Amino acid sequence: MRIEIIAVGTELLLGQIANTNAQWISKELAHYGANIYHHSVVGDNLPRVVEAFEQSRKRSDVVIVSGGLGPTEDDLTREAACEVFEDELLEHSPTMNKIIDFFKKNNRQMTMNNRKQSHVLKTAMVLENSEGMAPGQIVEADDSTFIFLPGVPAEMKSLMNDFVFKYLTEKYQLETKIKSEMLRFIGIGESTLEEKLKDLISKQTNPTIAPLAGEGDVAIRLTASGKNPEREIADMKTSILERVGHYYFGSDSITIEEAVQDLLVQKSLTVGSAESLTGGKFIERIIQLTGASSICQGGLVAYTPEAKQRVIRVPKEIITRHGTISSKCAEEMAVQAQKLLHVDIAISFTGVAGPSSSEGHEPGLVYIGIKVKDAPAEVFHYYFDGSRDKIRQRTVNKGFELLFHKLK
Ligand code: ATP
Ligand code: MG
Repeated sequence: MRIEIIAVGTELLLGQIANTNAQWISKELAHYGANIYHHSVVGDNLPRVVEAFEQSRKRSDVVIVSGGLGPTEDDLTREAACEVFEDELLEHSPTMNKIIDFFKKNNRQMTMNNRKQSHVLKTAMVLENSEGMAPGQIVEADDSTFIFLPGVPAEMKSLMNDFVFKYLTEKYQLETKIKSEMLRFIGIGESTLEEKLKDLISKQTNPTIAPLAGEGDVAIRLTASGKNPEREIADMKTSILERVGHYYFGSDSITIEEAVQDLLVQKSLTVGSAESLTGGKFIERIIQLTGASSICQGGLVAYTPEAKQRVIRVPKEIITRHGTISSKCAEEMAVQAQKLLHVDIAISFTGVAGPSSSEGHEPGLVYIGIKVKDAPAEVFHYYFDGSRDKIRQRTVNKGFELLFHKLK
């Protein structure tokens, strides 16, 4: 189906107003996957309006005309349409009554001009204008359909919304499809992500790009509509992942622990933990997953230095020389957990959850150890802000992030 839009009005040609009607109609119709082939503007001049209609009639199935339906001399759209379709104008009595009522209520004198607004083509379907006087009209000629709407944007929009979209979708079996996908990222802040995608975000139309911050991860929601929203989303996703794919862990409702689980399953690896300040929060998030038994042996929780010696078998010398909040202790916790739990990957967490200091370290200092198969253990340290609860939460999230990147 070929659709085009003609805006009638000398004001538009003079640059006094912009043709926002054509823009709005095109944008809305794009949601239905409709193809708009031409926008044109013609002044308030009968022969030129007739010429524009004749030309459009030849090349388009549907022609949407805005403007020139008012009461004044320069409103010529009806007259032009009569000429093109060899039709005649009739008074539409419900509209005439509405106009009479309006003038009565406002105590104003009606002029002959005002009657003009109630004139419609004999063959037209009349669309009631709930925002103003002049009704919309649809003329179905054998070669094309003309839809006449007032120029006032609010009136044009209400007629499009009340009748025209429905008319077009029914007659031409247009359908609107909307799809969205949530891209999830970890290890990158919301502002850095936005910065890296700044130009894509500022140019966005279809799909739209909405960044959303979560606790521990950030997401971007892509929403597309039109004929092929899947394609629009796939193309935009490719452009986004070319830049920030390193931080992407999955789409829609996936969680970071599920992404980690998927990778562990793919690589036939198992995981276990040795946890101090996190108190088992890490392993709890693994065990809560369906199918956890194939990727996880278990976790060891030891809070005091004595328990770390007895349960996780951290040698006493390490604790006395380095303390439990140390890189060395985190390393040893991961090494021991790997042995004790018989897992491929062990992760350890030790640090100060606060609110008070511990072993002379400020709250928020955290060590995370990771031991993968025969490789030497690696230890990372961080300073996290926030309450005791937040620090413990952030520690676990960071553990998942490290594990995800390691596995990838
Ligand atoms: P009226 O009954 O108000 O005369 P009309 O159907 O004759 O309505 P016009 O006279 O062409 O419409 O335009 C009325 C007003 O609507 C214009 O002054 C302008 O503010 C706005 N308008 C008209 N056409 C457009 C357009 N294409 N885009 C945006 N605004 C428009
Ligand atoms: Mg007018």
